[in-house]
Amino acid sequence: MSEEDNDPITPAIFQTSNFRFKSFESFRSAMADEEHALIYSRGNNPTLNMLSDKLGALDGGRALLFSSGMGAISTAILSIAKAGKHALCIEGAYSWTDKIFRDLLPHYGVISEVVPASKIIDCIRKDTCIVYLESPLTKTFELIDIRAVADAAHQVGAVVMLDNSYSTPLLQRPMEMGVDFVLYSATKYIGGHSDAIGGVLVCQSEKYSHLFNNEYLAFGSVMSPFNAWLFLRGLRTLPIRLERVGESTAKVIKYLKKHPKVEKVLYPGSISKEQEKLFKDQMSGLSGLFSVVFCNKSPQAMATFCNTLQHFQMAVSWGGYESLLLPYALWRDGENSGMVRLSIGLESSETLIDDLDKALATL
Ligand code: PLP
Repeated sequence: MSEEDNDPITPAIFQTSNFRFKSFESFRSAMADEEHALIYSRGNNPTLNMLSDKLGALDGGRALLFSSGMGAISTAILSIAKAGKHALCIEGAYSWTDKIFRDLLPHYGVISEVVPASKIIDCIRKDTCIVYLESPLTKTFELIDIRAVADAAHQVGAVVMLDNSYSTPLLQRPMEMGVDFVLYSATKYIGGHSDAIGGVLVCQSEKYSHLFNNEYLAFGSVMSPFNAWLFLRGLRTLPIRLERVGESTAKVIKYLKKHPKVEKVLYPGSISKEQEKLFKDQMSGLSGLFSVVFCNKSPQAMATFCNTLQHFQMAVSWGGYESLLLPYALWRDGENSGMVRLSIGLESSETLIDDLDKALATL
């Protein structure tokens, strides 16, 4: 049997920290081209490169891979933020991203501001260097007009960043709307099996070299080869998982909207006519994350509701094969106590609706 007959159907994991050279000359030419050469896995590794080629192609840019979504997000922000300059972040972004803008950037002399979606354009200043967006937001599911913000930001030379973890490149293509850095928690839908943490930053090719040769290598929060292999596996089923999740989500939302004990359901496009229009313009479908506000907002009623559910598991994170539930009553400040966030997984929609039906009966 020739070697060709033993070609593995899945790619190998190059579980190595470094690469050896047969000659001084080949070592020297590799060192002269660190951006492309296989030298050390903090820079390049064949398993990571395979994943980054695929993710770059999906978004229409070049992808850098990180050990977590926050690794990608913090590296992106720190690569652009400068002391004395202004940085803007949308209110309601993921809590640790919000922390970077509210608490950490000021330590480095960056003038940072967190403002509601409706005020972002008005708050862009001549010295703004970053406009950081999440659309949809992952608590209220509000959308922002990405093209309008990108146009305004580019007029002052600011870099527009957008966390696209909710949508993945399959449901929203931010670079086509003017976004410069597209960011992902790969931990969510890209992985899809709740077994690996990782992050992705996609940018235009011309920005890639600068990032690679500076913040990427220097901050060093890179993805491991094994996790890159898990995310390659995740990508193979991403379209079919999103299709299934999108269908189940629409059915569960329809059921909840009619239920007398439900005050409202928050999902992309649900809040107003303008939001519905933005949803149609910017996105090609729903994934599986949304919030539900109940008429009964007592923390005790929420506890009983959560404890009654059998198929929604209580946990942080989202985007995996399993349906999850995050009750906001966990935070004792009383705000949003009658609200839960659901992440729809791959179970049948009938099972999930039946589960919710039994739990809603306790409210
Ligand atoms: N962005 C969003 C919207 C998230 O929900 C999360 C994590 O929950 C992150 C980014 C951070 O990703 P990671 O946990 O992979 O660092």
